[in-house]
Amino acid sequence: MKELVEAIRARGVGVGTDIVKVDMFLNHRLDTDLFVKMGQAFAQAFAADRPELVLTVEASGIAAALTTAMACGNLPVVFAKKSRTRNVTGDVYESRVFSFTHGVENHIRVSREYLPKGARVLIIDDFLANGEAAEGLCDIVRQAQATVVGIGICVEKSFQPGHQKLVDEGYHVVSLAKVKAISDGRLVVED
Ligand code: 5GP
Repeated sequence: MKELVEAIRARGVGVGTDIVKVDMFLNHRLDTDLFVKMGQAFAQAFAADRPELVLTVEASGIAAALTTAMACGNLPVVFAKKSRTRNVTGDVYESRVFSFTHGVENHIRVSREYLPKGARVLIIDDFLANGEAAEGLCDIVRQAQATVVGIGICVEKSFQPGHQKLVDEGYHVVSLAKVKAISDGRLVVED
């Protein structure tokens, strides 16, 4: 997506050899116009998959999931929670996810009542690195006996294996921008 590629080139920063920092518009300060356009791009890309629900993981996936769900005709959004709070009680689907950015293992949980059996689920997340977060969400959808109809990613780091892993498992994966390398703090983004 042209606007996202331009934003990454203009305002993204590489940290070390493998972290893309886009706090200016995607992860800390949110560029609402860009989020609306990303939502529209995902809605168009997955229209033929007829999603009924958008699933993501807190916190950084929520904004793109929301604009996508709205562009798909105001679908419900469900986000997996990372902490065991008193709000999430009783019957939950749970999966383990190794966090690339934090270097820790998180348990992600979704209340069973919010993920109906048979639902056509579109997974949305801000980044794709090793595919752990997406795999965890797919695992939760499997437990619910629902169907993953697509996986939409704002920024894919194409030098990491997540995309190929998910495609090899048969998922329809769409990334709006692909960072193919980080060199001296500069991001090399595919056109
Ligand atoms: P994965 O699970 O695919 O290894 O990593 C994806 C998750 O880790 C995303 O949910 C995202 O929050 C975080 N993440 C992975 N790599 C990056 C990165 O380079 N920059 C940012 N901001 N987040 C990342």
